Amino acid sequence: MKGERLRRRARWLRAFGLRPLVASALISAAALPGGRPRVVPDIPGVIRHGPRKTREIALTFDACSSRGRGKLDTAVAGVLLRTRTPATVFLGGKWAKDVARALRGLASDSLIEFGNHAYMHPHLLTLSDDSIRQELRKAQRAIKGVVGKKPVLFRAPYGEVDGRVAAVAESLGLTVIEYDLPSGDPDSLLSEQAIVRYVSSMARGGSIIVMHINTRGWHTADALPEIIANLRRKGYTFVTVSRLIAQEKPAERARPR
Ligand SMILES: [Zn+2]
Repeated sequence: MKGERLRRRARWLRAFGLRPLVASALISAAALPGGRPRVVPDIPGVIRHGPRKTREIALTFDACSSRGRGKLDTAVAGVLLRTRTPATVFLGGKWAKDVARALRGLASDSLIEFGNHAYMHPHLLTLSDDSIRQELRKAQRAIKGVVGKKPVLFRAPYGEVDGRVAAVAESLGLTVIEYDLPSGDPDSLLSEQAIVRYVSSMARGGSIIVMHINTRGWHTADALPEIIANLRRKGYTFVTVSRLIAQEKPAERARPR
């Protein structure tokens, strides 16, 4: 039943020629209270996936307080550490401060890379350049205070990014990362198996998958071990986003593999 719903959605998206990016925009917006779907066009400087020729995939997790006070999904964190799976976690600055103690385990493991996900998780498109800069700077300070390292990657709250937001992020030394494969984990109607099947079948070389580690995902911790096992069986390796996009450098690309 739920699998059928997912298949219907995939068919619907294909019928309209929509790429997963658009699906991700729809999914992000669907989670907004009173939010309306926003379609994010391709923006220079905004990275949605890595090189397609690799067998590497980046798992990413958003952690923000868009719904009540923050909480770390310790079951998800446990799966990453237990299966030794590198991942990139985008932290809301305020959220990170709220759960600083719970984050210690993840922060002390070099498997996990942390990115900036703004401070209060606002709708950045509605803010002035100055306010955006303040949001991102405040998050940089907060995240460094909690995990001990200043992020170099940024993911916009709700996936809402345009050239202006991207330029501000870039001016602070942050690379803007979106994703090409939304797992759909905030959707309470998707079963664990539906998420496993969807992500395992849609992931390809260079994919940046997005899930949640703030208890917003309903079945994330249950689906994750099988997704990791399935993709490893297919010959994929999980890497952090920084590692995935480092290969974009021409010198690396020219090297035979
Ligand atoms: Zn978020």
